[in-house]
Amino acid sequence: MDMQWTVFVRKHDAPDEVALATFRRPMEDAAVGDFGLSIAEGRRLLLQLQQQIAQDQIVAYDLDRRYCQRCGAYRRIKDWRHRKFATGLGPIQVRVPRLVSCDCDSERDGLRPHAQQTRATSPVARLLPGRRTPEVSYLCAKHGAASSYRSAARAVADMTGLQSLSHSSVRKETILCGQHIENEQKLIASRAGQNKPEGASHLRVAIDGTVLTAASTEAVTRFEVVAGRVERDGHMGKRFVCALARRDLTKTLVAAALDQSGWIPSTEVDVVTDGARGMRALVTSIAPRVAPKILDWFHMGMKLQALKRPLCAVTFPCSTRPALLLQCETLWREMRDALWRGRGEEAIELLRVLAAFLKHGMKELPPFYASCAATARGAAAALQSFLQNNRRDLIDYQLARMVGRRISSASAESVMNHVVNRRMSKHQQMRWSMYGAHCLLQTRVEMLDRRLEQHFDAWFPHFRTPELQRC
Ligand SMILES: [Zn+2]
Repeated sequence: MDMQWTVFVRKHDAPDEVALATFRRPMEDAAVGDFGLSIAEGRRLLLQLQQQIAQDQIVAYDLDRRYCQRCGAYRRIKDWRHRKFATGLGPIQVRVPRLVSCDCDSERDGLRPHAQQTRATSPVARLLPGRRTPEVSYLCAKHGAASSYRSAARAVADMTGLQSLSHSSVRKETILCGQHIENEQKLIASRAGQNKPEGASHLRVAIDGTVLTAASTEAVTRFEVVAGRVERDGHMGKRFVCALARRDLTKTLVAAALDQSGWIPSTEVDVVTDGARGMRALVTSIAPRVAPKILDWFHMGMKLQALKRPLCAVTFPCSTRPALLLQCETLWREMRDALWRGRGEEAIELLRVLAAFLKHGMKELPPFYASCAATARGAAAALQSFLQNNRRDLIDYQLARMVGRRISSASAESVMNHVVNRRMSKHQQMRWSMYGAHCLLQTRVEMLDRRLEQHFDAWFPHFRTPELQRC
């Protein structure tokens, strides 16, 4: 004999129970595979329940709105229409009534009474404008911002059972969400720095740019994306990103991010960039109080390493390095030390000596070390011009480190990796429309900042989040 269960549901004021699903399990030849409910059975049950509740709601809403709101006349049902909805528990099909328009509608429109008898209205349909629940839109935007639209569509379809969900639907939802977010950021930026009881005394902005390949429909082949983040007291504040080549919009988005991190006009802002032109000016144009510029130690460190590597290279069988290279390495150490302690001029002078040593001593070296010396000379020349061009921004890095200033732009690079590169990886040869990329990145920034739910809360009254740990 088999075991059997049937699940019923009953609306509180309704007399009848509705059977949702029946489950059977064998007794005698039972195996471990029979244990409990399967995922598919559970889903089917929930989908049936969803269908029942949604249809009950539609019938109840309709009854509530059957009388004309203007004149109070009863409106009869013209017909029922089938409508499909994508819900977080799967696709449902419900019947939505259409009502015959009230006479007062035709009078208002200057028509003869009853002339518009055939005109139909659907007060319930107005409650359900889209064919997706906000929960599904949220999942589409969240996954669309995290991975490619195709894999996001697969992930959401697996999670919800909406097998017909296409990547273009996910893209549409992600972009729509980005548009909403941008509008809200604009609103925040318009009153940036105002109406705050107390602001931050010090903020740090890491900002960087990267380039994406444009779709063939764009007028350009490549376009720049500016992204960054604001830190307050060492904690992550707000990220920002702009992919449209509009400086005013970038400024607006930076201003909104600053405001949300607690910026007021008296806040001192420390800007971390890799020295790319324009990035620093972008922040200084918004925040009047900006800390003095620091020439980025991260990039300087890379240039120093490029010089050190050929100096320290060793080959078999000449495993002892020539005296010239050993001497140059000592000079390199002294130079790095001078740079670190803010003695820029001395460092440049030491670099000149090092370059001259290499130039004169190269000819006597064995072939391998001669080629190393040539590489080192190239690196020394690059470092020298870098230091000379930026000599005014060389500071005492040791001191800056001690007072807690950020001397490396590595955080600007990492924000770029986080916000842009992981989603829009260059290896995937993806091409982007500028507007599409911009809206996607707005959604992505909010997703990374864990504020996506907050936005949906604001757009959809009574929004119920699908995040299990928070609902
Ligand atoms: Zn009426």
